[in-house]
Amino acid sequence: MTGKAKPKKHTAKEIASKVDAATTNRGGGKAGLADRSGIEKGGHAKLECPHCKITAPDVKSMQIHHDARHPKIPFDESKLSDLHATCVPETSKPKPGVRGSFKK
Ligand SMILES: [Zn+2]
Repeated sequence: MTGKAKPKKHTAKEIASKVDAATTNRGGGKAGLADRSGIEKGGHAKLECPHCKITAPDVKSMQIHHDARHPKIPFDESKLSDLHATCVPETSKPKPGVRGSFKK
């Protein structure tokens, strides 16, 4: 080893993990657990790809997935399975989840 570090590249895996970190609840405790497991809100994965059943937290992510995985199939938002549609969210409940500020 010469000690010279290889130039860093952003790999798809790295970017995916960053997206995951930004959109997935890592909150601890009971509230975080309930939030993560989707008992109360149907989980963070809101949408399900109708073609390969992969899940995404929002339409934008799903479109990125769709363009990457199913470029020959036209993207149709209405065909996505909304996993939250069957689960009525309690809006008054504080969301313990997604990393970031509550200040808007
Ligand atoms: Zn898919």
